[in-house]
Amino acid sequence: MTKYIFVTGGVTSSLGKGIIAASLAKLLQARGFRTTIQKFDPYINVDPGTLNPYEHGECYVTEDGAETDLDLGHYERYLNTFTSQANNVTTGRIYQYVINKEREGAYLGKTVQVIPHITDEIKRRMTLLGQNNQYDIVITELGGTVGDIESLPYIEAVRQLKWEKGDQNCIVIHLTLIPYLKAAKELKTKPTQHSVKMMSENGLNPDILVCRTEEPLYKDLKRKIALFCNVTQDAVIEALDADTIYSVPLEMMREKLDVISLQKLGLPVGEEPQLIRWKEFLNKLRYPKSKVTIGLIGKYVELQDAYKSILEAFIHAGAVNECKVEVKNIHSEFLTVENAAEKMHNLDAVLVAPGFGSRGIEGKIEAIRFARENKIPFFGICLGMQMACVEFARYVLGLGKAHSTEMNADTDQAVICMMEDQKQITQMGGTMRLGSYDCELNANSKAAAIYGTTHINERHRHRYEFNNDFLEMYEKAGMIPVGKNPKTGLVEIVEIEDHPFFIGVQFHPEYKSTVENPHPLFVAFVAAAKVAQEARNGQSEHPMYEQSVVEG
Ligand code: GLN
Repeated sequence: MTKYIFVTGGVTSSLGKGIIAASLAKLLQARGFRTTIQKFDPYINVDPGTLNPYEHGECYVTEDGAETDLDLGHYERYLNTFTSQANNVTTGRIYQYVINKEREGAYLGKTVQVIPHITDEIKRRMTLLGQNNQYDIVITELGGTVGDIESLPYIEAVRQLKWEKGDQNCIVIHLTLIPYLKAAKELKTKPTQHSVKMMSENGLNPDILVCRTEEPLYKDLKRKIALFCNVTQDAVIEALDADTIYSVPLEMMREKLDVISLQKLGLPVGEEPQLIRWKEFLNKLRYPKSKVTIGLIGKYVELQDAYKSILEAFIHAGAVNECKVEVKNIHSEFLTVENAAEKMHNLDAVLVAPGFGSRGIEGKIEAIRFARENKIPFFGICLGMQMACVEFARYVLGLGKAHSTEMNADTDQAVICMMEDQKQITQMGGTMRLGSYDCELNANSKAAAIYGTTHINERHRHRYEFNNDFLEMYEKAGMIPVGKNPKTGLVEIVEIEDHPFFIGVQFHPEYKSTVENPHPLFVAFVAAAKVAQEARNGQSEHPMYEQSVVEG
């Protein structure tokens, strides 16, 4: 029988529920339990696909094309297994389902209410992944903070599930904050007590408390928290601020979060997991032998979470290369022909980020031009690849008005244009080319050498594509479409022959990089940055950056 662990949050947001849930899942997985994690988000959007990255950070895409919360990225990076559409549910999706059923007449004239109809649908989805004996343990992270009005139906659903399934099959871990008051030199437990009290008022009591803290929790304090929050003393877990999110599983193991969870669920604890590969990774991450600086050119760079998966992929790839990757954020909106050299002269490599719309687009093109002309390793992802094609058209093919129809619908040099099957679509949500697609690589390409195979599949999230009418022109001039979709012929990867590392990909490799399986393109890109740095150290400056602009 599948057992359920719910992770709730109290006192404040941003305590790292996703990381705690993923760390616990990792430990349970390492102990031999088939474990998965899902996230329930209390907002009304049906999925985060239509959200601006400034709202909740990056939108993470799964193999099956679900646009999900970025925490699912953590789940995959930690567990090294795929999640799916079923792993992320929002209030919007729940209401949409219930309302559709009501319109079909499925409720037979009953009044449709939050309790029982919405809570029943929440419970159905909470236990969906537990069916068919697929998993021993399903961890469910509840978004939001206890006390929010919109969280109430979820708390009630968990209360009912706990009652139906019994305390041995269903436990609640509450993540909370124990603030340290510098002036009083004291750790304070009151906010935690209040948050647990608020939960109890809704009929739900946590079984385990994970306490985020800047200072260690001494024994008496743990006892006090246990007493006033009505949990056993061994169920008060200290979660000290960590130097990296990747050390949290080991910290949680030290604090025995996995052991206590298993005991409360009546499952055998077994032997302590070794996590050998994880520890090796952490070691390399903590003690790098070199450092490279990579420019991340995007328009959401002020917000760390907007490019979460890219930043994590750099961490994984850096560890493989035993090299610290310092990411220098460069706002594309403020990058111009005049200042590109000054802003980019000390970069070892350049990554142009995915994105939508025209804000900052000319800056991205300028960054690509700088990287191409100065032979700096370049990696373009999705919009980054599309703009690499636009840059090449403008400055190498002499097509001065080249653009993507996303930014200029009227150009007659549309080297990037909307996919045919996208043209009829009017709805925004869930309508892009999404999820995993096959790609065949030219055997003699750099990409094939990096992947070590010519058949790959990668995840997509876009509406526009390379326009194959221009394919021959590109090939003749040295930008080669080395990866194509075998069914549709859509160009998925471009490379420039005469360049140490110039790769643009229409897909999102960052979504598939995990601690135990760092993405080969990121690994090769960081390696190329190292080589570029060494070469640069040999010579003092970049080759001249010509400021000529080709007129169309
Ligand atoms: N805006 C581009 C498109 O829709 C690129 C999308 C992206 O970078 N994810 O095709």
